[in-house]
Amino acid sequence: MTSAHSEPELRAALDAVPRYKAGVAPPPGPVGLTAYKVASNENPYPPLPGVLAAIADAATGVNRYPDFAATELTQALSTSLNVAADQLALGTGSVALIQYAVQISCDQGDELVYAWPSFEAYPIVAAIAGAESIQVRVNDSYEHDLAGMAAAITDKTSMVIVCSPNNPTGTSFSRAQLVEFLQSVPSRVLVVLDEAYVEFVDDDRDLRSVDLVKQFPNLCVMRTFSKAYGLAGLRLGYAIASPTVAGALRAVSLPFGISAVAQAAGLAILAPAAQGELQLRVDHLKAERSRVLTALGPMATQDAQGNFVWLPLGERSETFASMCSQQALSVRLFSGVGVRVTIAERAANDRLIALASEFVSP
Ligand SMILES: *Cc1c(COP(=O)(O)O)cnc(C)c1O
Repeated sequence: MTSAHSEPELRAALDAVPRYKAGVAPPPGPVGLTAYKVASNENPYPPLPGVLAAIADAATGVNRYPDFAATELTQALSTSLNVAADQLALGTGSVALIQYAVQISCDQGDELVYAWPSFEAYPIVAAIAGAESIQVRVNDSYEHDLAGMAAAITDKTSMVIVCSPNNPTGTSFSRAQLVEFLQSVPSRVLVVLDEAYVEFVDDDRDLRSVDLVKQFPNLCVMRTFSKAYGLAGLRLGYAIASPTVAGALRAVSLPFGISAVAQAAGLAILAPAAQGELQLRVDHLKAERSRVLTALGPMATQDAQGNFVWLPLGERSETFASMCSQQALSVRLFSGVGVRVTIAERAANDRLIALASEFVSP
């Protein structure tokens, strides 16, 4: 007797996994209006010619597996960051590395502490591992409540994620605040510092977070090529940690995840000539950020340290997001909380300014 086939039994923990909402392309605007996607914190600049050439060259070899150890790129990062190669782990975007960090530290039922609102990938990677998310609300200035986060750590906590600058609120904390926090966290707890937007932080802020890895072996700094370096589509990120933590991240890495094309693009980006050009672009985006913040005034959180601004509009968030959408600007809506808008092409920034002023005094 053959019985009807039924669905396989999947892990019950999957029921708790929230689905990631990717930024959407804007709807076509009224006639003549160029549409801009300012919902995903992408870099508006296309790849530099040298990066494109490296991509094209690497593409000729894609019949071969990539170098799993990403030897050359690891060496280049080791030189540019002044850390040993065995302190680095590379991944397909820092999102992958954050997931690997959960895999090396959280067993089923362990607690993972992070701020909220923060990056929407955190609840997903926690739930996939069957870990319990402990969300600590940001303070009234939309900053991490670091003391509150330290206080939320229990015997069941195996990992904490801090995000600076924080997505979506844009605020960052100082090196001194980070040190104080690290001193208050038990050393058995892995602290992931997500610095996806670190290149956009104001120049007068003292960060040097990478140095702290030597002093605090439970600290793991995550960076990405997706934002300041404009490589979101090729998936490349890295972690800086103790050799033990970095080795564990490498051990759980998906084999051959980082393509040869991504590795070649990463190397081209780290070349000194490209770094100069990319810095000019970052500087320009930071100047645009200042211009937008000044124009938006109290409508935006003024301490914006990423390539985006945060408009904490509460119940009015939906209204503003749909106003933007009608003018072919697709922003990121956090329902009932706020709206996050990427600093992008000048024309897109201008349109945001115009919409904001219409919103404030219609
Ligand atoms: C964009 C982003 C990342 C990195 O994304 P990848 O493209 O996977 O490198 C990580 N953390 C935060 C907070 C982000 O906003």
